[in-house]
Amino acid sequence: MTGKTHMAIGACAATLMLPSNDIKIILGGTALSVVGSLIVDIDTPKSKGATFFKNLFGCTIILLILGLVVKEKFNINIFNYITQNTEFSKIIPALCILLILIVLGLKSPHRSFTHSIIGFILFAIPIYIMTGELYKWFAIGYIAHILADMLNKKEIKILYPLKKGIALSFCSADGIVDKLLFIGSVGIIVLAYASCISSLW
Ligand SMILES: [Zn+2]
Repeated sequence: MTGKTHMAIGACAATLMLPSNDIKIILGGTALSVVGSLIVDIDTPKSKGATFFKNLFGCTIILLILGLVVKEKFNINIFNYITQNTEFSKIIPALCILLILIVLGLKSPHRSFTHSIIGFILFAIPIYIMTGELYKWFAIGYIAHILADMLNKKEIKILYPLKKGIALSFCSADGIVDKLLFIGSVGIIVLAYASCISSLW
């Protein structure tokens, strides 16, 4: 799957599994599900790794703009909400753990460590320390990515460090199924949130 399809599937799965009409949860949760769905592919070869950081940068800019709009309109600080006002003494070690995991992910072969159960658990720990209950959104984005990759022809090492991998060989990574999943996911997200946002505005 392409990066944008993973983002859309992750946000869509989180939207359907954790429905809410609270603007804080919608924005904060969606941001975390997108991070979860993107971070899995930090192990992609160089050129695509650059795409990952481009996607992450783009999402951060969008979140910053939306966050400022929400702060202005509803007087809600979305950034404090995402970090759940966690003390600095907890955020710093959690960020260090996350950084170590990202370096490990960058260095590991594609579709191995970050695409495994052990990788998921390890990444979820620092996110849980930093965001508390909101980590569920991150987890859904992360798991949705792994499940979507399973549909591809190239296998993922879900039980890493064991060598055996899984591939359902249902579609190629950037073919018609990828496009349909992207369009379908975006459509569901738009439908799910349109009424909520319009009622708030
Ligand atoms: Zn992947």
